[in-house]
Amino acid sequence: MNKKKLVLVPGDGIGVEVTEAAVDVLKAMFDDAGYELETETYLIGGASLDAFDTPIKDDVIAACKSADAVLLGAVGGPKWDNLPAHKRPEQALLKLRKELGLYNNLRPVKVYPSLTSASTLREEVVSGVDLLVVRELTGGLYFGKPKEVTPHPESDGERAVDTMLYHTFEIERIVRAAFDAAGKRRKKLTSVDKANILATSQLWRKTVERIAPEYPDIEVDHMLGDNCAMQLVRNPKQFDVIVTENMFGDILSDEAAMLTGSIGMLPSASLGDGTAMYEPVHGSAPDIAGQLIANPLATISSVAMMLRFSLDLPEMADKLENAVEEVLAEGYRCADLTQGAQKIVGTKEMAELIKSKVISAKSVAST
Ligand code: NAD
Repeated sequence: MNKKKLVLVPGDGIGVEVTEAAVDVLKAMFDDAGYELETETYLIGGASLDAFDTPIKDDVIAACKSADAVLLGAVGGPKWDNLPAHKRPEQALLKLRKELGLYNNLRPVKVYPSLTSASTLREEVVSGVDLLVVRELTGGLYFGKPKEVTPHPESDGERAVDTMLYHTFEIERIVRAAFDAAGKRRKKLTSVDKANILATSQLWRKTVERIAPEYPDIEVDHMLGDNCAMQLVRNPKQFDVIVTENMFGDILSDEAAMLTGSIGMLPSASLGDGTAMYEPVHGSAPDIAGQLIANPLATISSVAMMLRFSLDLPEMADKLENAVEEVLAEGYRCADLTQGAQKIVGTKEMAELIKSKVISAKSVAST
């Protein structure tokens, strides 16, 4: 029998709500197929700080390493905003990414036909957008040392430094992953950097150019990060796969999220050489946490990516992705996508709607 083990790290705020909704759907699919799903849930982020005075405990990392996949909600919130850097909830994410070696972050951005009017951009600009941001996740400015704030008596203030650091091998592996992804799509790769200014970007561009001849069927171009930010809202349909370093990818993928109408729609997968992690792109949304109105579709779509990349169940992944499209086409929306929508539903109701599409009639009758 097919048996899989998941570690759940829901985190804070709506992270808890959307994870519960997505796992509910996944469990129903496993039951329906006669498969076994074992889950273990751990605290991370603010919840772990409150309980254990640390953003993530070592036993959580160990559990994640031994699972078939990890599903994460989101971490953070105003309660923990003023803690020192090493105690901030985000440290949990950074540690998980580093310890699991998750250097390859895939963020697909697809505008569903039923949501073309939900974007803040004009319909003709966003309709048909289907792109993939491949973000380097364990290097660059977020990890480089030194990273510190120190007193600066000469200016009667403080001095802060972050370090943007990349090695050739880090660039090579993410660029190869992006070429491979482009090979399975429309065969166009845009590498985004700031090679006009940054030394790390010059190494990045040189590495892309060295690797490109290995992939003769992929069309490659280079784009500066500031231009890419502009092109994403001017003509997003020009992009197939975008590959870029950690911080540019963080910012550009949030911008791309708005093409879909809401950040509540955007899934992600973080892959490395061991256990992979899946999470919605959005944060813990303290402004709506506890109201059960958060859109769970980003997390449900992250579960679809998990089914495809980690659980080796591509047909279930297709079924889940089709269910999301169908429910949206029927006019159901969460509160983040209310423009012109007829049927506004909460987090749990949205999960129930998806469930009704993915489990067989026999299972529906017996629930
Ligand atoms: P956010 O993504 O939490 O929220 C931005 C806006 O989008 C808010 O108005 C929110 O209500 C809305 N939103 C987000 N997800 C939604 C959903 N699923 N359904 C409906 N509306 C949704 O970003 P923020 O406000 O900048 O950050 C809030 C907290 O989350 C901060 O503590 C931040 O550090 C943290 N954060 C965590 C992650 C993560 O865990 N991966 C990512 C980003 C931000």
